Amino acid sequence: MKIKFLGTGGGRFASISQKRMTGGFRIDNFDGKNYHVDPGPGALVRTYQFGLNPADLDGIFVSHSHTDHYNDAEILIEAMTKGMTKNNGIIMGSQSVFEGFESWGPAISKYHRANSKNLILTANKSKKFPFLTIKGTKTMHGDPTCVGFQIENKNGFKISYTSDTKYFDTLHKYHKGADILIASVLRHGSKSISGHMCSDNFAKLIQEVNPKLAIMTHFGFKMLAANPIEEAKRIYKDTGVRTLAAFDGMLVNVNENHPEKSGMTHLKSKFYSKKSEDSKNNYKQYKKSNNYKNNSNFNKKV
Ligand SMILES: [Zn+2]
Repeated sequence: MKIKFLGTGGGRFASISQKRMTGGFRIDNFDGKNYHVDPGPGALVRTYQFGLNPADLDGIFVSHSHTDHYNDAEILIEAMTKGMTKNNGIIMGSQSVFEGFESWGPAISKYHRANSKNLILTANKSKKFPFLTIKGTKTMHGDPTCVGFQIENKNGFKISYTSDTKYFDTLHKYHKGADILIASVLRHGSKSISGHMCSDNFAKLIQEVNPKLAIMTHFGFKMLAANPIEEAKRIYKDTGVRTLAAFDGMLVNVNENHPEKSGMTHLKSKFYSKKSEDSKNNYKQYKKSNNYKNNSNFNKKV
């Protein structure tokens, strides 16, 4: 199982400027199936940039009807269905994504919904498929139907994703039991803004959920200026849970038995760009940081 980050920027301004990429992430080989999560602007192009194939997707998850989460969903659906010539795959997401809700969405046309299974997720709704069990998780965000998920494979291994949400007292209950907790952490320090978590919120959530590995992504301008890697190091120190700040092109080779020991590297970029240089620099910075200095330290509380 591998988690591949095709973008780690979030919010309007990081997206418009592409200060970080905004392609979301893929969970590949989850019981043999591949899923793209929140394919924001550029997801298709980043897929090719990092040597992946959009046609090998089995599912696409779109958490809500904000552009930085849904922008490339339809073109990926076309890839998943061989240009809408085959029935294939599953589309999962919020009510707004499929049907529209108040001023949000719909984000996927009826045409694009037609050749794949559709699953509208709401908080605590679970659905079991042969290769995947998925449960919706509650959020508190601008799009009121926004939904995160917890997925489980047949070995009982669980990956949780908060999507965009503010921190709230019962958030941890939805993500209980997560082996890997992935969160959208837009801001640094204690600087949370409406509908989003900051680093301090995420640290609190990590303490409550106690995952084996925590990954933060979806960084806004101010977080990027504050340096997400430094934020992740601080969270690791405060919580004792290995915490990674995702970077564009980050590949996590999931160790299912010991998620905290999962290897981390960068996907090779097929394009020459400043962004790919950024990925390399981020990776170098990680290797130097406490997070990656010594594998044997991953289990230790600090
Ligand atoms: Zn949003």
